[in-house]
Amino acid sequence: MPQQQTGLSRRALLALLGLGGLTVAGGAGGALLLLLLRAARQPVALPASPTPLPTPIPPPIVSRAEWGALPPDHNAPNEPGFYSLDNPEGWRVYEGDLRTIYRTVVIHHSANYGRDDIDTLLYIQRRHREERGWADVAYHFFVGREGVIYAGRPLDVRGTHVAGYNTGSVGVCLLGNFEETEPTLSQLANTLLLVQWLAETLGLTHLAGHSEFNPETECPGDHLMPYLDVLAAGSGLARGTGGYVPSEEQLLLTLPAASADQSP
Ligand SMILES: [Zn+2]
Repeated sequence: MPQQQTGLSRRALLALLGLGGLTVAGGAGGALLLLLLRAARQPVALPASPTPLPTPIPPPIVSRAEWGALPPDHNAPNEPGFYSLDNPEGWRVYEGDLRTIYRTVVIHHSANYGRDDIDTLLYIQRRHREERGWADVAYHFFVGREGVIYAGRPLDVRGTHVAGYNTGSVGVCLLGNFEETEPTLSQLANTLLLVQWLAETLGLTHLAGHSEFNPETECPGDHLMPYLDVLAAGSGLARGTGGYVPSEEQLLLTLPAASADQSP
C-alpha cells in the first residue's frame, strides 16, 4: 500500500533538493529513492575563493523548552554525576573541538509512537530516565512524522544511544516503528537536511544504523534501513561502523580484552 504523504509535497521536496525541473512518476518508495540518489549526485557547493568556509546554517530545530523536556537528572543511576576517568559512565560534556570527537551519525527509530510527536518525545524522555536510568533522552536529535526536527540532549554531551560506541557518535532518532510502517517523505527529506548539516558541522566520516553496531536490536527497522545508503551518499559519508574510534577510557578499561569487546 502506498505510504500516505504528509507535510512536504513531492513538488516541495524536489524544490528542496534543487531538482524542481524533474518530473517523477510512480510509487512513493521507489521514486523517493531515485530522487534522493539523484540528489546525492549533486556536487556539493564550495566557495570559489580560498576564503574560510561559512558556518553551516542549521535546519530549523524545535528546542527542548518548546517540546517540554525535563532538565537532565544528574542523579540518574546509569549515568551518574559527571564524567571522569573514575566515573566513565557519567554525563560527559565533550571538551575541545567537536570536530575532533565526532565521527559517525547513528540512525535510530523510536519503535513507539503515541498520539503525536510531542506525546512521543515526552514518553521517550520519561522511559529513558525512569526505566533506562539515564540522565536524559539517549539521542541528540529527533525527526517527527511530519519532518519536524527536535533537539534531544545537547550536541556537546555524549549520547547513550549505541551501547559501547557512544563516544564520538551523534544519535538521530526518527519517530515511528519502522518494523511496521514506512517513514514519511517529509521525515526522510528533513533527516537528509539534518544529516547534511551534522556531517558538515562536525566533520563526520560515517553513517550507520543502530543494529550495525549492536546486532541484537532491530533498530532502525527494515523499512528505514534501505534509505541509509541514500542519507549517507547525500551527505558525503561512508556507510557502516568503520569510522568508530575507541574512546580513551575504553582503551584503558578493555585492555587486554579489547579485541573481544570491539568487534561489532
Ligand atoms: Zn536505536
